[in-house]
Amino acid sequence: MENLFGLTVGEIGVRCASLEIPSYRAKQIAEWMYRKGANAFSVMTNLPKSLRTELEQFFSIARAKCVERWDSSDGRTSKFLLEFSDGVAVETVLMRQPYGNSVCISTQAGCAMGCAFCASTLYGVSRNLTPGEMLDEVLFIDEKLRGENQKVDTMVLMGSGEPMMNYENVLAFLRLVHEPYCLNMGYRNIALSTSGVVPGIECLTEEGLPITLSISLHAPTDELRSMLMPINRKYGVQEVVAAGRAYAEKTKRRVTYEYILIRGVNDGEKEARELAALLKGQLANVNLIPINPVTERNWERPSEDEIQRFCCALERLHISATVRHEMGGDIQDACGQLRNRHLESGAFD
Ligand code: SAH
Repeated sequence: MENLFGLTVGEIGVRCASLEIPSYRAKQIAEWMYRKGANAFSVMTNLPKSLRTELEQFFSIARAKCVERWDSSDGRTSKFLLEFSDGVAVETVLMRQPYGNSVCISTQAGCAMGCAFCASTLYGVSRNLTPGEMLDEVLFIDEKLRGENQKVDTMVLMGSGEPMMNYENVLAFLRLVHEPYCLNMGYRNIALSTSGVVPGIECLTEEGLPITLSISLHAPTDELRSMLMPINRKYGVQEVVAAGRAYAEKTKRRVTYEYILIRGVNDGEKEARELAALLKGQLANVNLIPINPVTERNWERPSEDEIQRFCCALERLHISATVRHEMGGDIQDACGQLRNRHLESGAFD
């Protein structure tokens, strides 16, 4: 039975037409699923009963199941493990920020990029998420917040997975959340983070959507970056930064370069100077992320002083830089950690 959840009004309309159901019903069905939290046709009270029965015979509304939940001790961060019908599970995080509720969503189950510091990639990628599954992550949180008279305000595609390796589905998902019959989310409230898959950045530049592009740079030279991120052997530092520059020029949106600080690896004065030279004159800012030590890896976080020194060095060189506010450290917020513990516990055996 085909799942209607995750389809656009146009796509639902095509399904309706095949059953000779008038096309205006498609919008009603979408609004029930996306705005009113309906997970069964039977509750769609403005549809004739006979139509509801007919829909039930041909279609389903399949939603993810929350199988685990962690809350940080300060109550600001909650992490959910959502399981889809085939047993694949992904992490979704809610961060209650001073400026609103932000959701961090996964675009793939696991990740194939192999970054040396990241937990998401330890078990490789199991599969791409569909637009409906990504929507499910956001709607799951939004529906929770509705109970508190709140909503999801901003969204970051920074959970597990490389969005550019699931490009078509990610774009379909972004367009869907933007629809007024869905979450009506402004593109300006969405950020997409990539490990630097240059053809993907170029396609996104062509789309011209005003979303914020984040590029995980983490090192200013090819030698160092290739050690941390295997993708750099395919698309080097210069090429990645050139693609970021083109994105900023086309969209007039400031590009964020993410830079994990790893003690003694990439946090020296030399790297700060190299990074500044690389980004000079670009509409960009650097987001410094003190590494979240992952038990499986041997990297260390610099001290507060060392972090500040790196940040100040960039600012002296006229590069705007911020240190990312740490949230949810006590619930293992680093990418993929929750899912890995779930895998290791044998939940998917
Ligand atoms: N694949 C995309 C998006 C997912 S990762 C990308 O690479 O950008 C989201 C961010 O979390 C990236 O900047 C990633 O480098 C960072 N990250 C991964 N592991 C981390 C860790 N152990 N500590 C801090 N940040 C980490």
